[in-house]
Amino acid sequence: MTQIKELLLRCNKCGLCQQSCPTYKVTKNEFYLARGRNRLMDLVLEKKYDWQKQIIYAIETCLQCGACVETCPSSVKTDLVMNLAKREIVKIKKQNILLKFAYKILLPTPQMIKIVGKFVKVYSKVKDKKVVKYVKRLNPINDLKRLERSLPNYRGEVGELKTKGKGSFNKEIRVGYFKNCANLLAFNFLDQSTFNVLKAVGIHVENLTNKCCGAPHWFSGDIETFRNLANYNLKNSEYQKYDFIVTDCATCGAILKRYGELLETKEAHEFAQKVIDINEFLVKNELLDYFEYEERSDVITVHDPCHLVREQKVKFEPRKIANMVPGVKLIEMKDSNMCCGGAGVFSITQPRMSDEILKVKIKNILETKANIVLAACPSCIMQLTRGVETFAPNSNIKVFHPIEYLVQHIKK
Ligand code: SF4
Ligand code: SF4
Repeated sequence: MTQIKELLLRCNKCGLCQQSCPTYKVTKNEFYLARGRNRLMDLVLEKKYDWQKQIIYAIETCLQCGACVETCPSSVKTDLVMNLAKREIVKIKKQNILLKFAYKILLPTPQMIKIVGKFVKVYSKVKDKKVVKYVKRLNPINDLKRLERSLPNYRGEVGELKTKGKGSFNKEIRVGYFKNCANLLAFNFLDQSTFNVLKAVGIHVENLTNKCCGAPHWFSGDIETFRNLANYNLKNSEYQKYDFIVTDCATCGAILKRYGELLETKEAHEFAQKVIDINEFLVKNELLDYFEYEERSDVITVHDPCHLVREQKVKFEPRKIANMVPGVKLIEMKDSNMCCGGAGVFSITQPRMSDEILKVKIKNILETKANIVLAACPSCIMQLTRGVETFAPNSNIKVFHPIEYLVQHIKK
């Protein structure tokens, strides 16, 4: 609580965060704005209010997207204040049983995620069949409906990729691939794309022995489980063997790069320094030039995930990837860096607010007339996929990770 107090001292209540806070934009309610949330925390600290339901709700609906921090003239770290507040709430509030299962049992057990992933794989292969479409209309459980709409379509296996004869990049480089939970669960195409692109240019790449990065736990205030997972990854991933740790998940990348700062050990710092997002890795090492691409006439727009654009400052790279494919037209959407309302499990825990934010994002996408949306984060891909299916069902928009899109159009 002392840390919260110190952080709050910087807030001068100017209200400039109104321009950027997604939850304020869709509610126009001061409770759901950085300034209002900070004021509520002041009142709790001054013991004028207890942890009442409305206060907990205001804190829990903060996406921790960091948009307010970017626009705040006093650099108030409201996202951190909210994270610290969530840690207090975790101590006093009973967690929803499904979330408890997901956070404490499913996510820390990759074998279990893989088993669930097998069912998801079978389901995503048949989800567009007529009879399945009919049965799913009868599904009475809202949370399941939302999850189901978030599932990406099954995209088949990624075969071996061919380079255009430029030779190998650098056989000496060793890359450890950090497997993310969403890939194990629903994105068969994404990890194969990353893996095969690296292999094709001659990079030695291996899967790390890792569990969940701990981001869902960190952002929800469950610091104990976050630490357990992070320490497991440090001990078991054999990261020392690799020059780089590559990830294709913006959220994993953001938290893995912060392991040093959050765990404050020599090993955590060493690990964090090796972490790099796949978009960044490909562009930095000029690996995109090793392939030839099919001509396309797609109109593409890019959604910038909060954990990529703010936390990792990666913005140019996904656009560079899109522009490698000849014939595509890149159109910027309005507020491409505004959160899509996915924010981990936000769309399940705060469905109404998540949908309002998502509607704005889908409207911005529709204005570009794009048929392809690129988003370098599995969680954003799931949220945007659901958004298209729910709020633009007659459009032909498809959502991909930049590397998935790239790999689909490498000349065979
Ligand atoms: S958080 Fe920053 S922008 Fe918002 S009211 Fe406080 S000082 Fe102003
Ligand atoms: S972190 Fe995002 S949702 Fe939370 S107060 Fe700041 S802008 Fe609003």
